[in-house]
Amino acid sequence: MSQESDCLFCKIIAGQIPSTKVYEDDTTYAFKDINPKAKVHVLVVPKRHYGNVAALAKQDPQELSHIVEVAQSIADKEFHGEYRLVFNTGRDAGQTVFHVHAHVLTGEVLDE
Ligand code: C5P
Repeated sequence: MSQESDCLFCKIIAGQIPSTKVYEDDTTYAFKDINPKAKVHVLVVPKRHYGNVAALAKQDPQELSHIVEVAQSIADKEFHGEYRLVFNTGRDAGQTVFHVHAHVLTGEVLDE
């Protein structure tokens, strides 16, 4: 898998930094956010490094679609299939880790 040596999420995927895994397959890893903003807050990431969701959509749309499937399956298990899916894209939009990640917020009724 392509990795960036100074990328926090590449290190999490490689097991060099601990995380609480909720799902893994050949291309995708999902773990609990350390600073949850909802009862269930999971980050779903491609194992291959892409800086943001636009790069992922362009270079590997199948993986983007798979990330949505993984998000759906988490919400199916946690909260009758309903969830908020957020991709912060760019520093000024709140992106702090530049390895694309889907925030899956679920497990409770969310504020609008
Ligand atoms: O969208 P943004 O880039 O701000 O999201 C990064 C997320 O990664 C934050 O919600 C933060 O809590 C989470 N994080 C984590 N484990 C780490 C470092 C950051 O879950 N070790």
